[in-house]
Amino acid sequence: MTAGSDAPAREARVDLDAVRRNVAAIAERVRPAEVMVVVKADAYGHGAVPVAEAAIDAGAAWLGVADLAEAFALRDAGITAPVLAWLHAPDAPFVEAVVRDIDLGISSADQLELAARAAGEAGSTANVHLKIDTGLSRNGVPPEQWEAVVAAAAEHERAGRIRVRGVFSHLANTSPATDAAQCAAFEHALAAASAAGLEPDVRHLASTAAALERPDARFDLVRIGIGTYGVSPYGDGRTAADLGLTPAMTLRARVVAVRRVEQGTGVSYDHTWHAERATTLALVPLGYADGVPRQASGRGEVLLAGRRRPVVGRIAMDQFVVDVGDDEVAVGDPVVLFGDPATGAPSADDWAAAADTIGYEIVTRIGARVPRTYPEPA
Ligand SMILES: *Cc1c(COP(=O)(O)O)cnc(C)c1O
Repeated sequence: MTAGSDAPAREARVDLDAVRRNVAAIAERVRPAEVMVVVKADAYGHGAVPVAEAAIDAGAAWLGVADLAEAFALRDAGITAPVLAWLHAPDAPFVEAVVRDIDLGISSADQLELAARAAGEAGSTANVHLKIDTGLSRNGVPPEQWEAVVAAAAEHERAGRIRVRGVFSHLANTSPATDAAQCAAFEHALAAASAAGLEPDVRHLASTAAALERPDARFDLVRIGIGTYGVSPYGDGRTAADLGLTPAMTLRARVVAVRRVEQGTGVSYDHTWHAERATTLALVPLGYADGVPRQASGRGEVLLAGRRRPVVGRIAMDQFVVDVGDDEVAVGDPVVLFGDPATGAPSADDWAAAADTIGYEIVTRIGARVPRTYPEPA
């Protein structure tokens, strides 16, 4: 580990090589199914465009995003790979989506009609993936409307207005039994689509959690978000390393102040922590504005001066305090909040445990004040 005296005060370093390795490892594991890498929410905080490019490099066949603004940003950056967007406001710009060759996830009869009309306006064909709700009860066509929607889609397809390129659904990842019930409901929906005359190129159901452990959920394509970033989809203590994945993001900063305090000194807002004996405290310039969860006050740990050290007292908006005992630390020393545990650092999943949340939220909420940097592999 190098201190790097020119290192920024704070940064989220994103190792695109780790992204490539994670995508390639998952692609290998799910073959012959293909991989869609999900880059919504700025690639879970990692930077949508660089991650998308790395993912395509590593063999991803598709990119997935939530809304069309995210899809257009990929096209603006010159990315030409197939892109699917699946969450649309009623006035979403479907015409522009057709013109810019974005595939539309379709979750209702109304959306199907809007897609068909947009195709007419664009003088082209809308590529759509029909989404069936198999039990997440969030988005997707309700099962009782599925037959009518696939019949309407088949009619639009015959008229050349739309092409049903995909049929998909999303799992609740609740238990093996609910996953199995959703797989069965998905098969049923596929049979109905087929009976209506639809021949989708890609049938897709699994996100990272099921893609890694349920071959029966892989179909033609898996949608991989969190696994791309080397964070665990499971809340059960299995680490990225257990899954053969490498954390891509390292959240780091440099110590901005060091002070020696007497026994009994109260630290940070509300004095929720007092020094049990004389000790040395280091100040880290990251806080909840940067996505460091206040919930992890007194519970999170960082890597500093070769060891994991506890966060003490409340995490504030811009800063928090670490107890280093009697060890030597200096202003400017590097601090790693999370990264690859192979380096001795905590993981994003460790911070999630400290904040009673999931690793997804830890990486995705890293704030705009923290620059994302992309070091060249050594
Ligand atoms: C976010 C999302 C995914 C990716 O899920 P991970 O658990 O991050 O792999 C896949 N499909 C849909 C519909 C999503 O919204």
